[in-house]
Amino acid sequence: MSDVPGQPAPAEAGATVSRDLPAPGRALAIGAHPDDVEFGCGGTLAKWAAAGCTINHLICTDGSKGSWDAKADTAKLVATRQDEQRAAAAALGSTGEVVFLGWPDGELEAGLRQRWEVAYWIRRLKPDIVLGHDPWRRYCLHPDHRNAGFLVCDGIVAARDPHFFPEQGEAPHRPTTLLLWEADEPDHVEDVTAFVGAKLAALLAHTSQFETTMGELDQFEQRVRERLAEHGARIDVTAAESFKKLDRL
Ligand SMILES: [Zn+2]
Repeated sequence: MSDVPGQPAPAEAGATVSRDLPAPGRALAIGAHPDDVEFGCGGTLAKWAAAGCTINHLICTDGSKGSWDAKADTAKLVATRQDEQRAAAAALGSTGEVVFLGWPDGELEAGLRQRWEVAYWIRRLKPDIVLGHDPWRRYCLHPDHRNAGFLVCDGIVAARDPHFFPEQGEAPHRPTTLLLWEADEPDHVEDVTAFVGAKLAALLAHTSQFETTMGELDQFEQRVRERLAEHGARIDVTAAESFKKLDRL
């Protein structure tokens, strides 16, 4: 569940930003809930997939609170949201893994066990670029988004160092770049003008979230396009996604 569709407004005009990384060979996007990855970086992932990048998803929680129906069958909801997440990944052109850690929605902690799991999947999937929530985004209300952001950062530190979790039996892996979406201080922009349709298709694959997150579909699409346009204005393109970029990992 995303509390806002898209991303905060970009920082003041005139600030230095980088743009358009070369498409990596492998990328791993780590979200708190099914649909967070598509909101945060769906256009960028679709662009890289089209360039031959293997896109992987890691979803930390089971999405079991993504309904306003107090009587909803949560086991069924979890299964539905997993199917939707796989369909969304396919809509982005993903050919990689879609992994679910399955922690209870709303109760994700950035603890050692969770860090162990995130580090394991970074070592297994060997992404060049990792993408995730910005844990330092001010006034971010949702605890899962904050904690998933910390897990991304802490998981990278553990994955790259051989003295963390040697019992995993996986070689250490150091990604080159971390991109944080909904960033408090965005300094990197990806032009996704040709991939707005793919991002929308992936978002709309999360059918069960129409009521709680998306509302009226034509207005939802309009809001997503407006957000992408705001970010695109920074680099004079029609649509873009913004990130905080860390590349000394
Ligand atoms: Zn979410």
